[in-house]
Amino acid sequence: MKKIQMVDLQGQYEFIKHKINHSLQEIMETSAFINGPEVQHFQKELEEYLNVKHVIPCANGTDALQIAMMGLGLKPGDEIITADFTFAATVEVIALLQLTPVLVDVEANTFNIDPKAIEKVITSKTKAIVPVHLFGQTANMDAIMEIARKHDLYVIEDNAQAIGANFHSREAKTYKTGTIGHVASTSFFPSKNLGCFGDGGAIFTNDDELAHVLRGIVNHGMYERYHHDVVGVNSRLDSFQAAVLRAKLPNLDMYNESRKASAKKYDQAFAGQEHIEIPYREGKCDTHVYHQYTLKITNGKRDALVKHLGEKGIPCGVYYPIPLHKQKAYQDERYVESDFPVTNQLVKEVISLPMHTELTDDQIDLITSTVIEFVNN
Ligand SMILES: *Cc1c(COP(=O)(O)O)cnc(C)c1O
Repeated sequence: MKKIQMVDLQGQYEFIKHKINHSLQEIMETSAFINGPEVQHFQKELEEYLNVKHVIPCANGTDALQIAMMGLGLKPGDEIITADFTFAATVEVIALLQLTPVLVDVEANTFNIDPKAIEKVITSKTKAIVPVHLFGQTANMDAIMEIARKHDLYVIEDNAQAIGANFHSREAKTYKTGTIGHVASTSFFPSKNLGCFGDGGAIFTNDDELAHVLRGIVNHGMYERYHHDVVGVNSRLDSFQAAVLRAKLPNLDMYNESRKASAKKYDQAFAGQEHIEIPYREGKCDTHVYHQYTLKITNGKRDALVKHLGEKGIPCGVYYPIPLHKQKAYQDERYVESDFPVTNQLVKEVISLPMHTELTDDQIDLITSTVIEFVNN
């Protein structure tokens, strides 16, 4: 059996090696390293795939979020509501821009931001909600958009973990995640569902005016050469990364299907296990693209299991071990522990198993039998 990896990018590369190598060679020969045709083609192709009017490529997913917030003209002191249970990048950029992050609890089953908790913390200073489609599962966008409309707030989707997932709205419309709110960000970090060979990211929006503003911000606030109308940043996707992404984008649905098939095999193996809770899936099967396959171990053996799997050579991860409201950088006296019962529990119970497009049945059998045997003994 091939050595089990948390993420296996080598196998994926083998299939598209020819295409990628050819494109990279061509870029070196034409020296169109920045903003070359590959970047422009990728932008168009991603707009088509997502059915969104504007994709603005940039250097990484963290920049994408920051630039989205800059583009909306948010000001220091504005309150931005986001989930307590997510990767720190989400709250980091809020704090960096001197906006005020307001962390709220998540739902126990989907791990996504809890709309009821959002409503409770809205004040006259609240300007935006940042839902994260965590682990590849769509947040409850019907409820979130309704709250946003009611209170006149922006919705900025952090789509770093869910590219390609669908959202079926209450009105029976289907959207790709990242095209529902006012603006969205994504990451092309190598281990994401659509990953490049370095850092990369993008912002999406259907708003023409906002798209124009964002295109200037990514390029030093320039709308006309050497005219700097706003304070911008330097955040570019380079041609090499765009070429890799162009080779992978046509396979994204297939990659996500393969993740879903592995998730289903995991689900079947863990079915009926008393102390193992499999990922809850909201609605139709295409609303979760399994950036992570995350179990809850409910009998207190999670930490021991992590250690045991390590000894057996089976990789796993704990995403995330500490709630953001308890991180030194993001503590705030307004938080009280009783506001975060779900996150406080999840950090003790969650464990993510290997998930990528190259998992084999014998690997899944070994992983699941090792987990089951350990948890029950
Ligand atoms: C990966 C990730 C980011 C940041 O993306 P980078 O490209 O690594 O900067 C932001 N938010 C979430 C939820 C992520 O998973």
